[in-house]
Amino acid sequence: MNMNDGDDANNLLITGATVLTGNDNREIIEGGAVAISGDRIVAVGTSDDLRRQFPDVETLDATGKAVMPGFMNSHTHAVLLVLRGTVEDMSGDAIFGYMTPISFAMTDDERRALARLGCLEAIRSGTTTLVEPFRFITGYAQGMVETGMRLWLSENGADALTLKIRHGIYEYDRAFGQEFLDRITAMVEQFHNTEDGRVQCQMAAHAPDVCSPWMLGQLNELAQKYDLTRTVHLAQSPGEVKQVRAAYDRTPAEYLLDNDWLGPDVVAAHWTYCTDADIDLLAEHGVHMAHCPANSSRRGPHKVRVGRIQDAGVNIVLGTDNMTEDMFQALKIGSIIHRGGLGGQHEGGGVDPTPQMTFDAATRNGAKALGAEADLGSLEAGKKADLTILDLNQAHLRPIINLVSSIVHYANPSAVQSVMIDGRFVMRDGKVLTMDEDAVIAEAQEATVAAWHRLAETSGDIEIPPGLK
Ligand SMILES: [Zn+2]
Repeated sequence: MNMNDGDDANNLLITGATVLTGNDNREIIEGGAVAISGDRIVAVGTSDDLRRQFPDVETLDATGKAVMPGFMNSHTHAVLLVLRGTVEDMSGDAIFGYMTPISFAMTDDERRALARLGCLEAIRSGTTTLVEPFRFITGYAQGMVETGMRLWLSENGADALTLKIRHGIYEYDRAFGQEFLDRITAMVEQFHNTEDGRVQCQMAAHAPDVCSPWMLGQLNELAQKYDLTRTVHLAQSPGEVKQVRAAYDRTPAEYLLDNDWLGPDVVAAHWTYCTDADIDLLAEHGVHMAHCPANSSRRGPHKVRVGRIQDAGVNIVLGTDNMTEDMFQALKIGSIIHRGGLGGQHEGGGVDPTPQMTFDAATRNGAKALGAEADLGSLEAGKKADLTILDLNQAHLRPIINLVSSIVHYANPSAVQSVMIDGRFVMRDGKVLTMDEDAVIAEAQEATVAAWHRLAETSGDIEIPPGLK
């Protein structure tokens, strides 16, 4: 492949680095180099070879650094940073008790402020792709697009009156569902496959308990019409399992099967209360699992059976879900909390999941789940230039014996030096280039205060946290 020699082409040769390719052989190149032209990687190899191949290209010396594929956060709701420091420590139903009510109470500007804070945190923690299913997404997504993040956006369709669920009432309403369908169409028309492909849309059903068969059918029609991959929360709470049993006498996974919502184009989040039979059913249909170990374990160890799911051959991808966009947390907690008692026998022994398995779940597996493995997930010639540069000369990373293990167990956002998305630096040498960080932080704090006050006023029974009064 050749360098693009047009005047405006962005040609760069990163040299001297430890290159974690994440390719099929998980090759790590010491003294490695990555050649970039425009939005693509054109070559990966040793610095000596690539300097000879591209003698006239601008060079970035990355001695003492690691270059790795940018993290893919496969399931998050950046707007819910508005709850950071509250529901993590509460008992009871956080989803319908707080997350849903505040998502309706916020204004578009408030959602935008929190979503931009999420993008800032994501970039600072080495993430290049965010998969964001939420509500009212057309009202705030432009604020995310402008940060330079690679995005998969979706509007979480539902026709159960979600604000009533915290009062124990499941009531399905087509007019309410139609509002989501209208917003989904508007989102796809405005955002899908824009910014030279950097911004994509997905079809999202919020969860089996809040989508009637009619709603699931409507969402499927739109997914087919626009040729979109699909996503859904699955078996994430006892309340969901109970409602689907009461209404349809099915498990959530069986209910999705009945309504043609299982397939290799579906990423389902959580799987917490899946039975053995559910896991086999989901594996058989090629459904991907979005695992969000940090969030799921904040109120006690997450009971999902990751080992069983892994042994069934499911493609597991990592996400942060709520209250953080820091993928290092997902790596660390995901590698530790479900260790032991797993059935997998991998080459070389040791415990499952191995650091490499966890790292893959945060990179190449995410690309596969989105049907984007030809473009994303590893550093290889022909793929998109989405990469993160880590400064390895940090007390928390040295000594280095096994780099992947050190990253999974010990790295944190302070090691992230630079982040490139689509061939463009969004962060370079410690500075975020696409946002005014102070302004983003101040706006998010202000929006949080306003949103909580409105929630308290409109809900009647939700109180403002003492720290915000
Ligand atoms: Zn979620």
